[in-house]
Amino acid sequence: MHRTRSIGVMGGGQLGRMLAHAAQRLGMRVTVLDPQADCPAAQVADAHIRAAYDDDQALDALARCCDAVTTEFENVPARSLVRLAQAKPVRPSADAVAIAQDRLLEKQFFIKQGIATAAFWQLDKPADGSHGASIEACHDARFPAILKTRRLGYDGKGQINVPNRESLSKAWAELGYVDCLLEERLDLRFELSVVLARGQGGELRVYQAIENIHHQGILALSYFPARSHPEFAKQAEVLAAKLANGLDYQGVLCVEFFVVGPLDDPRQWHIIANEMAPRPHNSGHITMDACAVSQFEQQARVLAEFPLGDTSAHAYACLINLLGDRWFDRDGCYREPDWAGLLAIEGLHLHLYGKHEARVGRKMGHINLCATSEALVDRALEKALKVLERS
Ligand code: ADP
Ligand code: MG
Repeated sequence: MHRTRSIGVMGGGQLGRMLAHAAQRLGMRVTVLDPQADCPAAQVADAHIRAAYDDDQALDALARCCDAVTTEFENVPARSLVRLAQAKPVRPSADAVAIAQDRLLEKQFFIKQGIATAAFWQLDKPADGSHGASIEACHDARFPAILKTRRLGYDGKGQINVPNRESLSKAWAELGYVDCLLEERLDLRFELSVVLARGQGGELRVYQAIENIHHQGILALSYFPARSHPEFAKQAEVLAAKLANGLDYQGVLCVEFFVVGPLDDPRQWHIIANEMAPRPHNSGHITMDACAVSQFEQQARVLAEFPLGDTSAHAYACLINLLGDRWFDRDGCYREPDWAGLLAIEGLHLHLYGKHEARVGRKMGHINLCATSEALVDRALEKALKVLERS
């Protein structure tokens, strides 16, 4: 008789939803734990445990009903993953998630693996309320810089620009004096991400690097495969694999890289690691339509202990993130994008996440554009942006 494989997912956002779609296609049963009713993943999952992420009873119920558990957001309490791991395999492990959750541990891990990072200085939450000493410890910091909270930041949240030393104290106050890293502002030429899957026994499948364009800290566009200076894409793929092996990682991992250096002298450009996500990544949504097997199916395969899938690309592609901003016109009046106009574009794939309320900056969905050449991708992109801007 066929044995149904069951997976549990901590978190009910769009990543859980797309994982559920992929896992169900492989005949798997999906249970989601999320406190919110009608969240994107709960709409499609086989079962929804509606509870807080640190609710022991709910965690035990999740562990009982599945063969393996994963997390769709990195800020899940590490203690919850440890509890789940006492009952069922958790992939990625609580240890790997704990490193990716903390910008300091993450950067220290990159350095230990021999991979360059932005220069950074530590600002520790003062035990006695006297933050002057912590600021003093950054006396050799370089400006302009960016102050980032060590934990819980995403999509540019938990970050403040610090143009000079004088503004550091105010910036830290704005972040509530939590543990932070002060990071030098780099002269970015372009940004890359590498998504990979690593299974039991170290089986490794790496997707080609993706090139990313951010607006105000949020991903706006991705090109796949990366277009600029292919030698850096190759380096990024090798470095991401090294990090996954170094962590003995199991699951889908994404590593973000910056290529930095002076605009007028490409010979001085070099690659540094920015951060990693212990899960499928927004940029990796491009694999849903441009690759043989998507990042979500890889995650399902790791959880079910199936062989990993083919990561090769069968198209040139571009991803457009659909933020809630697109649901409002210039006067702030609500109006949905022109779906019919978009879907008339050849090679366009629309993915919406089932979020009922559009808000500025909220990720509502994405578009993948696939074609047989970069020029055709660009033509489709031009058309799609025209429809989005007109509607
Ligand atoms: P998040 O967790 O919000 O994605 P990131 O550290 O990746 O945080 O920062 C978001 C974006 O901000 C990056 O993709 C990049 O465009 C920009 N950024 C972050 N750090 C730096 C830096 N040190 N110098 C220049 N730009 C940066
Ligand atoms: Mg990032």
